[in-house]
Amino acid sequence: MIKLEHVKKVYPNVTPLADVSTEIHDGDVISVIGPSGTGKSTLLRCINLLERPDGGKIFLDNEEITSPKSNVSKIRQKMGMVFQSFNLFGHLTVIENIMLAPVKLKGVSRQDAFDEGMKLLRQVGLSEKMLNYPHELSGGQKQRIAIARALAMDPSVILFDEPTSALDPTMVGEVQAVIRDFAKTGKTMMIVTHEMNFARTVSNRVFYMDEGGIYEDGTPQQIFGSPKRDKTRRFIQRLKVLEIKINSKDYDFPATIASIENYCRKNLVANRICNHLQLAFEELVQQILLPGREKPEVNIVIEYSEEKNEAIMNINHGLNGENPLDTADELSMSVLHGISDNINSDRETGTIKLFIH
Ligand code: ADP
Repeated sequence: MIKLEHVKKVYPNVTPLADVSTEIHDGDVISVIGPSGTGKSTLLRCINLLERPDGGKIFLDNEEITSPKSNVSKIRQKMGMVFQSFNLFGHLTVIENIMLAPVKLKGVSRQDAFDEGMKLLRQVGLSEKMLNYPHELSGGQKQRIAIARALAMDPSVILFDEPTSALDPTMVGEVQAVIRDFAKTGKTMMIVTHEMNFARTVSNRVFYMDEGGIYEDGTPQQIFGSPKRDKTRRFIQRLKVLEIKINSKDYDFPATIASIENYCRKNLVANRICNHLQLAFEELVQQILLPGREKPEVNIVIEYSEEKNEAIMNINHGLNGENPLDTADELSMSVLHGISDNINSDRETGTIKLFIH
């Protein structure tokens, strides 16, 4: 129903969408999750043309909406948008807010728009507020009205941009309940959200956004239960991560050891694990990986899971096809085995993974 082909959006200092291709099917309810600044909101704004993509194409019902000939206001009528900040018209009553677009843009009669509006108000539990003004409502009520207003146009898809993040925590539940209710009716929806439990229960599909696009796309069971890719897993399991890049044999070793210490202190990593991380780094990097290499390209990612009280050191040593542990001296290997009972070395990808408890 919506198709994106190589969509690109570039701002002067960042490229939130480098090359996004995907298809959104009729009835899909997609939660869009990921760290902030990864282009979730930009993706939504490109889909409904609030932002013009700098490259690629977007199709809605087989019509290319990114074509210069497309009728933007007609297209927007098919896409409801619900914003963080409600955007209701303050000088209009609740029911007038809902009737406005169907009457003005679609030529629906006032009576029909009123009947439909009242039906929607009952669905969001706010028919009694029909004659109130937005300032007389709570944040949660305003957002429920904004949802009813978006639905009044009977759009093909509704895009929600962090619909609950401006709300007092006590009001999040009522808005989520309304969205969940409409999701069950088969309405196609995309929801940018930071509420993981909500994402898990409301959607049939989850986009995890990172690295300039949809980094992983799967069912909630896959994304939350067994994410396939590293960054998704780190985000879902809320792992604390330290990245170290070494691209010179003259890098600052003491400062790097100190950065591991600081990382551990900041994330309350147990002393024993911290010492083992430093020791593992020293043995693996200083003793095994760097000697004899003029231009090393070694990337290390340390992840710590508070839940499991476990640290994982992932080392990408760049020597694809080799296992540097094969030629390591016995002393280094016995230190490493004293630190970790689980050391994996993968020749093909040039990586070593060490689990430390
Ligand atoms: P998210 O919704 O994942 O938090 P956004 O889509 O809002 O991320 O933003 C992605 C990146 O693009 C951010 O680095 C943001 O600062 C930048 N950005 C968003 N809108 C603009 C804009 N209008 N001009 C310049 N940079 C922008």
